[in-house]
Amino acid sequence: MLIAFDEGTIVAISTPPGRSGIGVVRLSGPRAFEIAAQLIRLPQPLLEDRRATLCEFSDPRSGLGLDCPLVTFFYKPHSYTGEDVVEISCHGAPVILNYMVECCVARGARAAEPGEFTMRAFLNGRMDLTQAEAVRDLIDARTLFQARVAAQQMSGSVSASVRPSKDALVDLIARLEAGIDFAEDDVPVSAWAEIESEIADVLAELSGIARSYEAGRIVHEGFSLALAGRPNVGKSSLFNRLLNEDRAIVTEIPGTTRDLVSETASLGGIPLRLLDTAGIRETLDRIEKIGVERSLQAVADATLRMLVIDVSEGWTAEDGRLFAKIQPLGPLLVACNKADLRPRLTPEALERELLTGDRESGGTSYETVTTALAVETVWVSALTGEGVAGLRAKILSLATPMRDLNADGDFITNLRQRQAIDSALEALAKAQRATTDHMPHEMLLLDLYDALRALDVLTGATTVEDVLGKIFSTFCVGK
Ligand code: GDP
Repeated sequence: MLIAFDEGTIVAISTPPGRSGIGVVRLSGPRAFEIAAQLIRLPQPLLEDRRATLCEFSDPRSGLGLDCPLVTFFYKPHSYTGEDVVEISCHGAPVILNYMVECCVARGARAAEPGEFTMRAFLNGRMDLTQAEAVRDLIDARTLFQARVAAQQMSGSVSASVRPSKDALVDLIARLEAGIDFAEDDVPVSAWAEIESEIADVLAELSGIARSYEAGRIVHEGFSLALAGRPNVGKSSLFNRLLNEDRAIVTEIPGTTRDLVSETASLGGIPLRLLDTAGIRETLDRIEKIGVERSLQAVADATLRMLVIDVSEGWTAEDGRLFAKIQPLGPLLVACNKADLRPRLTPEALERELLTGDRESGGTSYETVTTALAVETVWVSALTGEGVAGLRAKILSLATPMRDLNADGDFITNLRQRQAIDSALEALAKAQRATTDHMPHEMLLLDLYDALRALDVLTGATTVEDVLGKIFSTFCVGK
């Protein structure tokens, strides 16, 4: 856990553990240059700003040479942390790196806590809280798309998106305050209708940003697709087809029902967990029943389900059974695979099959019924690739509410940000009621200040220390 902020000099290895080509030790704080100069033979006591210089690191005890690191000084305030920073690029030998940190600590530096460099950057005004969170997201990114979104937020896109609302609030507050303070002078007090419409504008603006979290969350956390279908209908083939673009990028996603996840990959740059539903079958065995129930639960929890059928064999009784089981669980995609072969099923015949489970609605059009059932069909061939692009797009559009959003990271991606905006919205709703009721401006102002404070929490303009501790402790050491 993060300890309270102090002004000392901190040190950490900023590269991952293990052997590597190079490994970087980073120092930040008032004594960074001095400590580095005690350990490393520099050509001059103070190196030039931001210029990497080849130096010598010898064991302070024996004087024997250990490495020849490339050392860079960054003078405050134009460094990552806003303090004096030294980056020492050694050969990536863990013994050397650890020893160097030890030597720095022996000379008065303190081993940095996780995220402490970035926390200092935040406390020194080098970045706001949403930018600091974006640094973490960039490091944690599993797909290039996630990295792009994080990079955009690192440049301040989240704060920029709430700035107009904040400015409007400040402006309204200032006018109301003036109306109060100078009540005896002749400052005009804004008409109620005008106040009401200004508050409504801010509410609408912030609601849009709050809603963007639905998409942002999926960009951040990914989504899951449960795959069902009889053996040999082409499930594996279809999946290989779907994921062949960038499947290698994604690594294990923590916190999922591991035993059911057969694969993780990415679709359109969004992490995708693939759930295998092979375990779902009729059984009389008590133990197996428990397994089936757990599988069903996981399938129900998935963002989206896909039933694969083989159109060259038509719609079989088993397809019908699987459909009946998973259709009630939520949005379902029916992939009509092997469209390259002679089909034993027409779209119209499939329509009738999908309807048989719901005879009540006989007579309604296919379109209406599938909408009501939240079932979509796509004809594809995993063999030829025909229809696969359409399937990919369909999966993305059903699983993610991103259709209405630009894909360039114009959304908030974490719950803390969402909660801050929700508190602002709550306060604004109160302000709106106060306006409708023509409450005294003093009362209205209390709500408006609450809304403003919530937006300050978002960017970190006002934040209590334990919240900072929580955020920065989720970083890695050395960042
Ligand atoms: P799974 O058991 O559902 O995972 O099915 P597989 O992906 O292993 O495929 C079963 C067989 O169907 C394999 O021989 C595939 O080559 C073949 N297959 C898969 N998709 C298609 C397709 O779109 N067209 C044709 N003609 N064959 C396919």
